[in-house]
Amino acid sequence: MNHDSSRELYDRALSSIPGGVNSSVRAIRPYPFFIERGDGGHVIDADGNRYLDFVNGYGPLLYGHDLPQPVQSAVQSTVSEGPMYGAPTEIEVDLAEFVSRHVPSVEMIRFVNSGTEATVSAIRLARGYTGRDKIVVMQGGYHGAQESTLVEGEDGHVHPSSPGIPEEFAQHTIPVPFNDVDAVQDVFAAHGDEIAAVLTEPILGNTGIVHPVEGYHETLRDLTEDHDALLIFDEVITGFRVGGLQCAQGKFGVTPDVTTFGKIVGGGFPVGAIGGKAEIIEQFTPAGEVFQSGTFSGHPVTMAAGYESLKYAAENDVYEHVNALGEQLREGLTEIVADRAPSYTVAGTDSMFKVLFTREGPDSTEGQCEAGCRQRPDCPRYDHCPKNGADVADCEDERWERLFWPAMKEQGIFLTVNQYESQFVSYAHTEEDVETLLSAYEEAL
Ligand code: PMP
Repeated sequence: MNHDSSRELYDRALSSIPGGVNSSVRAIRPYPFFIERGDGGHVIDADGNRYLDFVNGYGPLLYGHDLPQPVQSAVQSTVSEGPMYGAPTEIEVDLAEFVSRHVPSVEMIRFVNSGTEATVSAIRLARGYTGRDKIVVMQGGYHGAQESTLVEGEDGHVHPSSPGIPEEFAQHTIPVPFNDVDAVQDVFAAHGDEIAAVLTEPILGNTGIVHPVEGYHETLRDLTEDHDALLIFDEVITGFRVGGLQCAQGKFGVTPDVTTFGKIVGGGFPVGAIGGKAEIIEQFTPAGEVFQSGTFSGHPVTMAAGYESLKYAAENDVYEHVNALGEQLREGLTEIVADRAPSYTVAGTDSMFKVLFTREGPDSTEGQCEAGCRQRPDCPRYDHCPKNGADVADCEDERWERLFWPAMKEQGIFLTVNQYESQFVSYAHTEEDVETLLSAYEEAL
């Protein structure tokens, strides 16, 4: 493949944009390919190379790169009437009502502009509502580029994970290992009346994919209820992706107090949202006193794209299609991995998937992982599959980034360059695309 144009663009970008990219995950070594346009399930780069795209914008693109006609029309007609107003519009109410109708925990919702903004506001809301400061998060969980959750360590030894965050901020955050019931019980035993909220992704999608073990979310629900703390699900990735329109909380049957959204709910445009019980969400200004505001919040173009995208999904076979392809993909990968790389783990659910480069355990060739590891205790490889951030951090990321990712790219497959981020199937993909992907995995492995 020729990449001359991408290389030239990257050289230019390095002089005017730090690291040449506007989001760190896009920095691919030795240089990223620059995208010229999307086409259904594909992207085409600046040198005319075509890739089957399983990054899908890191999650927002449920439909891939061809928006359904009603979504396109709504976006175009909204733009033609002027981009935004600084005053409310009907489409914000339409989308708020739609989300409240479908997502079990949501009675009210406030729209913002990114997943990060949503989790920042959700944490402020939980602290304002409970009058407490401490937030429990999962080690390896990701909630955006924000001060309260960019931390590492464990209770009593917590530090910011980035320069620029005061040490004192980290003292209010308690990271625990995902799926470890004893650890979170201990934290509540020690700090129960200081904890404002437990904040977790229902499925770890940025360090993973890691599924909850049976009963884990129920434990979080019981503990938070018993201690008058809030349970916040960060459904920025899983929202309207896992569990269809009910989101992961509907699939798992666990109802959080507050949910953060992003990605799909904006139909491919910048978005975030904080939803939950009316009594809690109404603490936001101007109904309540927890300050929350934004020039672009509830942007008409985003609201139109989000509303029409979700309405289209409600009226068509969107989730059936992407979930069936996800299943075909995980089953195919499981067979390939069993044959070629038996220590690796296939993870994912619905339209999310990932092959984790887990390392060989002492008896790791015993049995086969069930397709799309769901942390089921009856799986023969249950003991070997990653159950928390530390297990995932133990995977071979060098091999993924240096060898595997380029080998896939050369075959025209675009995957997330970071070994730990989820990959996604879109409505634009076909069974043939999945077969193409499987052949590429087989070749690369
Ligand atoms: N929460 C989760 C679970 C995410 O996956 C992300 C982004 N990948 C965020 C929050 C932050 O969202 P954004 O990048 O839109 O700020």
